[in-house]
Order: sequence, then structure tokens, then C-alpha cells
Amino acid sequence: MPAASKERPTFVTHLECSKTGERYPADRVHGLSDRGAPLLVRYDLDALAAAVDRDALAVRPGGLWRFREFLPVRRAENIVSLGEEVTPLLAAPRLGGRVFIKDEGRLPTGSFKARGLCLAVSMAKELGISKLAIPTNGNAGAAMAAYARRAGMAAYVFCPDDTPETNLREIALQGAEVWRVDGLITDCGKVVREGVGPMGWFDVSTLKEPYRIEGKKTMGLELAEQFGWALPDVIFYPTGGGTGLIGMVKAFDELEAAGWIGARRPRMVAVQAGGCAPIVRAFERGDDHAEFWEGAHTCAAGIRVPAAVGDFLILRGLRDSGGFATAVDDAEIDLARAEVARREGVLLCPEGAATYAAYKKELASGRVAPGETAVLFNCATGLKYPMPPVGRHLDHRGEIDYGQLGPGQPLCDNT
Ligand SMILES: *Cc1c(COP(=O)(O)O)cnc(C)c1O
Repeated sequence: MPAASKERPTFVTHLECSKTGERYPADRVHGLSDRGAPLLVRYDLDALAAAVDRDALAVRPGGLWRFREFLPVRRAENIVSLGEEVTPLLAAPRLGGRVFIKDEGRLPTGSFKARGLCLAVSMAKELGISKLAIPTNGNAGAAMAAYARRAGMAAYVFCPDDTPETNLREIALQGAEVWRVDGLITDCGKVVREGVGPMGWFDVSTLKEPYRIEGKKTMGLELAEQFGWALPDVIFYPTGGGTGLIGMVKAFDELEAAGWIGARRPRMVAVQAGGCAPIVRAFERGDDHAEFWEGAHTCAAGIRVPAAVGDFLILRGLRDSGGFATAVDDAEIDLARAEVARREGVLLCPEGAATYAAYKKELASGRVAPGETAVLFNCATGLKYPMPPVGRHLDHRGEIDYGQLGPGQPLCDNT
């Protein structure tokens, strides 16, 4: 194999502070900007448009790397991949309206965190980094552990005590050093931040390095292609750190600048849980930043994020697109999860179920019309999360009253 100089065409020109617009050189290790804001990767989109078009894309194999010109990795040998497929966009006519579910549970490690961590770990490899650390509510840690081990890097993962058990165990089994921390994800973030000096870690926290957002951006690129380069009317996104929402907005802007789509945009809707809704509160107050949410709690761990560094970017994405933020409570999430599974055969994660609960609520409120094409994000496979137990028993030795076996019987003897 002709090793070293296998440069891939990439159109990265520089990185840019999302607050001040100040430029930073590409091809160096970066965290936040000097102003403490996320750095955004910028591309020469005219050159990109001259080099590749939508037709060229159409004949490429599926997967995240079909969009390689919109991504920052320069050398093919630095790509760390676990087989990221384009996720299906499932029509869900029994949910009312014109609803599609973007099912991200099909990705490696069972969640859309694979997109971001695939890019973050590939870029870490390209930049010579070998020790990664992350605070996580579960899925980001699982994805980082998997990609880091695939690349032969060390992975340190810090989770709140009550992170879903499956997440903790998959992280451990994938060879990361994983710790339960008696606090929230923001407390885990502090452990990582303060460990960077003594441990020599690279901090892969949400939006604190520039490349997870580039990976999440591929959700927007895929949606555009799947909708035939005409975007849906409204996107319901379960919002924690907001990487995906910010990433999709960035994708749409870049596609327009490259001349691949027009100026029409979907309204972006941030879905949060009633027990942790800092973005909803800030949106409703008209604020540019979100205040820390005290006492955060919800069964939807992925959106239990009391403070987000990219809050101003999320809020801008909502307002610029004519969207909004909305919260649903845990009981609505459980109901929505059961309803979608029963009606459409799609087992959502709680965060994904939150988007359907929000969709129903906003159809009722009139903020969304039934004729609008809506995308709901199912961010992880439902199989990672607790499900109601089944305690029905049948004594096969006795006489079975088949008439009693039908639907409507309780799942457990005591319910
Ligand atoms: C991380 C995560 C979210 C939130 O995604 P962000 O892009 O960080 O806002 C939602 N659901 C699940 C299952 C997650 O793992």
C-alpha cells in the first residue's frame, strides 16, 4: 500500500469561533476557542461544488463517508470506522399526519453518538492524540469507547451514577476505564476538565472539540438526500447538548452554499423533558443563553443535560428556522414509546419517544399542522433501555381457557 501521502480531497479552510468569528488554523489540536465557545469547521464550498455534485454522490456506496467532501479527515488511513450506514427514514402513517422516523438505532453502538465519535476519533488519530476522556449520560461514552479501542487509543469515561446499566456495561466491556460519578453530566465534565493536566487526556466533551458536530452534521446531509434534496417541514430533535440540532443547521447552510439545496429550511424543534428543560425556558424568555437547570431529572437520560456550552447556537437554530422548543414529561414519554411500538412496530428509546410525545402535543396546540411533513429522531435503539416486565404465566399441564388469552389481559399478575 502506498502509505504516507494518501491525501484525500478535503475542503477545510480553517476553524472559526462560533461567538466572534475569529479564525483558527486547521490541522492543529483545538478545544474551545479563546472565548470559551465551540469552534466550527469551515470549508471552501465553491471548490467543493466544482469538484463533486449530487449525481456523483448517487452512485457511491452507502454510509457516512459518502459525504466525505463535507468532512474534515484528510488521510484515508485515519478513518476509524465500524460500518456507519445511512439510517432508514421510516414512514409512520399510523402516527397521524405525515410523519417519518429517522431511525438512528441502527448505527454502531446503537445510537447516533456513533456519528460524532466516529469523526472525533478519526480526527484525534489524524492529529496524533492517543488518550481520550469524556463525560457522558451513556451513549457518547459507549461510542467513544468503541471507536477509541478500534483505533488503539485509551478511553476514560465518566458517567452519572444512574446512567442506564446497559451503557455502563457496554463501555466497560469495550475496554474503556469507566467510572460512576455521584452527580450529573456537568459534574462529570468537571472531572474530565480537571484531569486533562494531570492525566494528559484530550477532552471529547460535547462541542468542546470541533469534530463531533461534523459527524452529527451527516444527519442533515442524509435527510436532504433522502427527501430528494427538498427538506421536510419540521424536525423534532431530542435536545441535550444540541450537537445534532446545531450540526443539521450547519449541514443545511453548507448544502445551500454549495448549491445543492435552496433557501427553504425545516423548522427545528428542540424537545426536552419537563424535568430538565433549560432550552425551553430560555426560548420562552427570549434569552440568548440558557440558565443552569437545578435538580435535573428524567427517564430520558440522553436529554438530561442541565447546561450546554452550545446553548446560544441551539437557540439561534430554533429562532432562525422559525422553530421552537417544547417539553414533555416522563409519563407522556412512556405512553408515546408504547404507542409507537404497538402501532408501527418501531421500538424507540425514551428520547426518541419524547419526540413523538412532543409531536402529538404540538399537533393539538396547532404549532404543527397535520399536513406538514415531520421528522422524528429516534436517537438510539430501544433495546438499551428498561421495558415494562412481563409476568404472565401459563400452566401448560392444566386445562387452558383459550378464550382468556386474547389482548387486554394485564402483562403482570399484579397489575
Ligand atoms: C446524546 C443523546 C441525545 C441528545 O443529543 P444531543 O445532540 O447531544 O443533543 C438524545 N438521545 C440520546 C439517546 C442520546 O444519546
